[in-house]
Amino acid sequence: MTQLPTDTRRDIRDLRTEDLEAALHQLGHPAYRARQIEDWLWRKGVHHFEEMTNLPKDLRAQLYEIFTLRPARLDVLQKSADGTIKLRLRLHDDHLIESVIIPVFEDHRYTVCVSTQAGCSLSCTFCATGKLPMKRNLTAGEIIDQVKLANQICQAEYDHPLTNIVYMGMGEPFLNYRQVMRSLHWLTDQRGFSFAPRRITVSTVGLPKMIRRFADEPYRAKLAVSLHAPDDAKRSKIMPINQHNNIRSLLEALDYYYRRTRKEVSFEYIAFSGFNLGEDDAKRLIKICRRFPSKVNIIEYNPIDGAPFQRASESELQQFAIYLLKNGVRVTVRKSRGRDIDAACGQLANKDQTLTA
Ligand code: SF4
Repeated sequence: MTQLPTDTRRDIRDLRTEDLEAALHQLGHPAYRARQIEDWLWRKGVHHFEEMTNLPKDLRAQLYEIFTLRPARLDVLQKSADGTIKLRLRLHDDHLIESVIIPVFEDHRYTVCVSTQAGCSLSCTFCATGKLPMKRNLTAGEIIDQVKLANQICQAEYDHPLTNIVYMGMGEPFLNYRQVMRSLHWLTDQRGFSFAPRRITVSTVGLPKMIRRFADEPYRAKLAVSLHAPDDAKRSKIMPINQHNNIRSLLEALDYYYRRTRKEVSFEYIAFSGFNLGEDDAKRLIKICRRFPSKVNIIEYNPIDGAPFQRASESELQQFAIYLLKNGVRVTVRKSRGRDIDAACGQLANKDQTLTA
């Protein structure tokens, strides 16, 4: 059997069903084989054609000649004293990405936070990933590899499957829209990972055009928006994307999202000491939250090297949260997890930059 050089073969997971059926037709095989192959790829998650044992041998050999499978592989695993597990994965082209498993034992909640891009182009000032150069978008297969690997590790470590998935790792999901939607399809489809859409959250910096597009999708995953500051001047300082996509346009897109989906929106709000926790900030945030059903997740900051921010004190954070609560805002406070293992997004991949440069 002649094997083509690896880089000329296409990853079979990049093919849509109809393309796979067309390829099979050309090879002289019936269309139903596409369903069998997809079952191996997305439900069973195999990484070798030889494992597709209900396919004829000649078809497996043909697939191997024409296509490839390039899964993301575990490179480093770090476990925190609080149970948080950080995974660094190596892609076939040596780029590094991260996923984090966050267990909340008392609630039996086991969440994986997945990356959607290797690096990020948005340069938020508080984020370690923002300091990495943007390398490339991940494929749907690479996004799902993170979930499958995390699920195996969660089972092995905690004897429990994952219960939640958040698209909140490296990269901006809506800048890799097509692959993110494709991954949502295979994660939630009965022929794939069969994960409940209501247990999946896509977190975005808030690109108005893409929020509208997402509102029109059939996938009923939840939406979270990284707000982090309630006015344009402050938000633009920490999130350069706000200079061209201001809060007003963001809120108009969220109005549309709510009208279309009737689903509440979560606002992510990192607590930066002395920056976004004043009374004026709280008042602006309350006004935003009254526009449509929403809640605010206040997140303790995990400081990174070179960022001009400090973690807010307990009293600063509590005062802000209580003010919001008293004014009818639904608030949760998320403690920073995995401080002992560089658990802030991008910190671990940043440690080995030379490998990705
Ligand atoms: S916070 Fe998200 S969007 Fe901003 S730089 Fe980091 S990964 Fe990119």
